[in-house]
Amino acid sequence: MKWTNTVVPTLRDNPQEAEIPSHQLMLRAGLLRKLAGGLYTFMPLGFKALRKVEQIVREEMDAAGALEVLMPALQPKEIWEQSGRYEKMSKAMYSVIDRQGREMELGPTHEEVITDLVSREISSYKQMPVTFYQIQTKFRDEIRPRFGLMRAKEFIMKDAYSFDASWDEADSSYQKMYDAYIRIFERCGLVVKPVEADAGDMGGNWSHEFMVLADSGEDGIVECSACSYAANSERATFKYVEAKQYDDAEKNLEEVHTPAAKTIKEVAEFLKCEERRLIKTLIYTADDKPVAVLLPGDREINETKLGHLLDANEFKLADDASVETVTGAAVGFAGPIGLDVPIYADVSLKGVAGAYTGANKTDYHYSNVNLERDANVEKYEDLCLATSGDSCPECGAALNECRGIEVGHVFKLGDKYCKSFNAKFLDQNGKEQVITMGCYGIGVTRTLQAIIEQSHDENGIIWPMSVAPYVVDIVVVNPKHEESMTLALQLEKQLEADGIDTIVDDRKDRAGVKFKDADLLGFPIRVVIGQRSLDNGNVELKIRNQEDSKLIEVDKILLKLKEIYRS
Ligand SMILES: [Zn+2]
Repeated sequence: MKWTNTVVPTLRDNPQEAEIPSHQLMLRAGLLRKLAGGLYTFMPLGFKALRKVEQIVREEMDAAGALEVLMPALQPKEIWEQSGRYEKMSKAMYSVIDRQGREMELGPTHEEVITDLVSREISSYKQMPVTFYQIQTKFRDEIRPRFGLMRAKEFIMKDAYSFDASWDEADSSYQKMYDAYIRIFERCGLVVKPVEADAGDMGGNWSHEFMVLADSGEDGIVECSACSYAANSERATFKYVEAKQYDDAEKNLEEVHTPAAKTIKEVAEFLKCEERRLIKTLIYTADDKPVAVLLPGDREINETKLGHLLDANEFKLADDASVETVTGAAVGFAGPIGLDVPIYADVSLKGVAGAYTGANKTDYHYSNVNLERDANVEKYEDLCLATSGDSCPECGAALNECRGIEVGHVFKLGDKYCKSFNAKFLDQNGKEQVITMGCYGIGVTRTLQAIIEQSHDENGIIWPMSVAPYVVDIVVVNPKHEESMTLALQLEKQLEADGIDTIVDDRKDRAGVKFKDADLLGFPIRVVIGQRSLDNGNVELKIRNQEDSKLIEVDKILLKLKEIYRS
């Protein structure tokens, strides 16, 4: 491809809207253009790279025995009601009304569609195991689209769904996909970390995410410094410290005047005690009903864990007015004692005595709190966020926090969807059973950007060979020099014939401009054809992620390029 025959609208400066390197680079390198918030056009070179990622995904899915299908993006509302997910998901879905007045959803995912299909097409154990997949555009009504393709309103996913006759067989389907994912990301040149994950709105009880470690990642990860334990912060657990009896457990409650001390820090300083000795009381509303949640004063709430416990369609931290109504006191003095709402406490508070907590009376706290004696706790549950320094749940060593970009997610769903859609089969004994399901997603567009986030330097992108829009960039210093152009076009033809995508930079610009763009675009290999070195029978060769260039004899360059490509 000649540079002058394609469109590569590179920019000199970082666009203001882009906050993270990969987003900046995709815009600057002219791979992407924005239509509106969360909506992007792939320009020719961006699309070429995207197609390569897609192809790797397709090849590995096929190799794992999955069958490619294509389902409609437009889905009738009824199937979302049938699965019971409509209430929870409707806010994030784009709904459209057709001219008959039927509500349709633009699919954010396809569990409903595929299970409906399978309930009609699969009826015997002989038809399983079977895994279907598709590579298709998904829609999600993001409130705050950001970071380019990382959180967009429209994006391309590979979604796969496995159907099995038993849990054991489902486990093996899951493992096959897990292994395929490892190969896919490896072929994309990505270093990923599989972590235990929360299943979220997908349901089911076991899942892993594939994370690209990056400071700009939107997901928190907690990993063990000694063993292989790693989990999304939403799911991460830790060995909690047993509740302490700070003082005689039988001592009577006492009101303590704590004027203007509202935050945990202020109260702890005022009472001259460690923050942990305070019982933090958070008021939430779950489907508009208030609940109280208790934590040790030095810990933060894990809202994902809380969400599972509350099992509400919607829950949020109560606003100040609601807190005042529930507690009868100003914000900052809430406590569980005498509170007439359901109370849930973190498991590490079970048995705590001699603690402090808000007295539901402005400017007052209680001392000598014996939680089991004084408050009506409905349930003790693991509700805290794991943080650096906590003990690993597997081995007890210290946990560390880091950040990641989720590029893949695999779930064991069990019978969740198959039950709702009555997807059953006859087993070997002629007995009717519910099909066991798994689902597996890769954010294809997000993976493309994650590759750049993980592989770039101050000059631009550093594409891995496998996904570079063009592997070789032949820079012709003076395109008017006939011999230079002839050599460039001949090389291009020979490389392309060998499946090596090549671009010839035949622009009339200064060499410096072309070199800058070559670095920005991140082509793995650069060949420079200059008049002077050509007179000496040489061209210049430079690998994107190496410092130095070297001169190669013209008649050896083709072989050399093929050799580098293969290695
Ligand atoms: Zn460990």
